[in-house]
Amino acid sequence: MAYDDSNIFAKILRGEMPSFKVYEDDKTLAFMDVMPQAEGHTLVIPKFPAENLFDLVPDYAVAMALTVKRLAPAVKKAFDAPGLMIVQLNGSAAGQTVFHIHTHIIPRAHGLELKFHAREMADFSELKNHAARIIEALGESA
Ligand code: AMP
Repeated sequence: MAYDDSNIFAKILRGEMPSFKVYEDDKTLAFMDVMPQAEGHTLVIPKFPAENLFDLVPDYAVAMALTVKRLAPAVKKAFDAPGLMIVQLNGSAAGQTVFHIHTHIIPRAHGLELKFHAREMADFSELKNHAARIIEALGESA
């Protein structure tokens, strides 16, 4: 399927939609998931028009992985998370709902059930606060 640049993440990349940004470089952007499955649920996207991993050029696949590697310890620290789930869905059959490739970073803890995927909108002031916590943790690890 051809990439459709009207998807929500393409709009965020073009600055047409707001996001709670935590990190940006020339090839990637990271921001809070607005319907988090756990507190601190963060998304990393490449600045490349690809629906999924099959369409993504290696350069941007590497850049996305490096940003995940950079952010993971900051998310873990900011939310005092004993575990982190890192997932990337390819195709609606795999549960993908936004067709611009992205990687989820989700704090996990024993006994803490994940909320439903892409279901319940979080409070925006809370998301702003969560983004600030990650940015602060990133600064401490830099
Ligand atoms: P996936 O189902 O893997 O495609 O994940 C898409 C994710 O994007 C879901 O976790 C949604 O909660 C999240 N999402 C949808 N719209 C937005 C938005 N405007 N800003 C941030 N996250 C979003």
